Amino acid sequence: MDKREELLPGTTLGMMGGGQLGRMFSEAAARLGYHVLVLDPGEVSPAGEVSSRRIKAGYKDRAALDDMAASCPAVSTEFENVPAASLAYLAEKGCHTAPMARAVSISQDRNVEKAFLVSSGVPVAPHAAVLSAEDCQGADESLFPAILKTARLGYDGKGQVQVKSPAELPAAWQSLGAVDCILEKKLPLRTECSVIVCRGFDGETATFPVFENHHRNGILAETVLPARIPDDTESAARAYAIRVADEMKYVGVLCIEFFVLEDGSVVANETAPRPHNSGHATIEACMTSQFEEQVRAMAGLPLGNTTLLSPAVMLNILGDAWETDEGLKDPDWGRALAIPGVKLHLYGKSEVRHGRKMGHVTCLGKTPEEALERAKKVARILRLPEPV
Ligand code: ADP
Ligand code: MG
Repeated sequence: MDKREELLPGTTLGMMGGGQLGRMFSEAAARLGYHVLVLDPGEVSPAGEVSSRRIKAGYKDRAALDDMAASCPAVSTEFENVPAASLAYLAEKGCHTAPMARAVSISQDRNVEKAFLVSSGVPVAPHAAVLSAEDCQGADESLFPAILKTARLGYDGKGQVQVKSPAELPAAWQSLGAVDCILEKKLPLRTECSVIVCRGFDGETATFPVFENHHRNGILAETVLPARIPDDTESAARAYAIRVADEMKYVGVLCIEFFVLEDGSVVANETAPRPHNSGHATIEACMTSQFEEQVRAMAGLPLGNTTLLSPAVMLNILGDAWETDEGLKDPDWGRALAIPGVKLHLYGKSEVRHGRKMGHVTCLGKTPEEALERAKKVARILRLPEPV
C-alpha cells in the first residue's frame, strides 16, 4: 500500500491481543490522543485494562471481528499467532491492517520464515525441514549437533530439543509430537542481538540501535542498549533488518533476532511481526518508543526519531521473582525504585506463575557501566538473575 490518509488522534485503533505488548501499545496510543479497542479471549486482559474498550472473544469470532472492523479504521497485533485469516478478513472489511496477513503468516512458520530470509539475501543457520518420518532418516550429517524446533507456535524456547547426532533425530521428532519441524545447525554464539525496524505505509523505514540479548532457560532475561558489538556488526544487522521489512512490504514494527558469531558476522534467527520484549527499554531510553512507532505506522503518521537518549539495561521480571522459602511474596519494589534511573513496569497479570513474564524494569545510566551497575543492584533486590 502507498501513502494514505493519516488517521488523526481521536480515532479508535484496533489491537488484536490482550497481553503486555498490547498494554504498552495502548499507553503509547493514549498519549497521542487515540482510543484503543482490544480484542482478546483472556479472563484477565493486561491491555484491555488500560484501553477505551475491550471485546472478550476469540480471534476468529465473526461478530467480534465485524465489531472491530466497524469501530477501527486500522488494526494491529501484539502476538504472532493471531490467525492470519482474521487479519485478512479485517482487511477485506476495509481495515488497514498493520502488519498485513501475509507478513504475519511468514513469521508463523519457521520453515516459511527461513525460506523468506534466504530469498531476501539474509544469512541464516544451515537448516532442513523435518515434516515426516522419512525426513528424519535422511538428515545431512553436517547439520549436527543441531536443534529441532516445531515450525509453529514455539516461543521462549518451548517446542525445541537438542539433537546431537542423526541417530537421535527420529526420537526427538516424536518427542515434539511428530509435527512439522525445522532442524537447525547449532551455531557457536558470541552473543545474541535484535533489531527492531519500523516501516510506514509509504515505505519509510527506521531502525532502533541494536539491542544485546541474554536468555536464561530459553526466555529473554536481559537486554543491553546499545549492544556491545563492533560497529560493522551493528550496521550489517540494521541493513539486513531493513531489507527484510522492505521485502515483506511490511507496515508496522518488526523485530529480527540475530546470532552474532565468533567472527562478528550476523545470522538471522527469527522474526516477530510486532514490538519485541528486547525493545521495551525504548520507552525510556529512546526518543520514540517501539510502541509509539507502532501507533504512528498504523495511523499513517511520520515515523519518530529512534535515537538512543541513554544507555540502559532492561531486566525481565518473571513469576520466579515472587518465589521465596516462605512461599510467594512481592519483591521489594520500593527499594528498587529508590535507585536513580530505575523505571518499573508491571503488567497487571492476576496470577503469578514460574517463568511467566510479569513485568520488566529498565535501568538507565549516564554511561553503559552506570546502567549495568544499577541493574545489578536492582537484580539483587528483586531476586532476578544477575545481569552480565
Ligand atoms: P523462540 O521462539 O523460543 O525464541 P528461538 O529460535 O529464538 O526460539 O530460540 C531460542 C534460543 O535458543 C535462541 O535465542 C538461542 O539462544 C538458542 N538457539 C536457537 N537456535 C539456535 C541455533 N541454531 N544455534 C545456537 N543457538 C540457538
Ligand atoms: Mg527467539
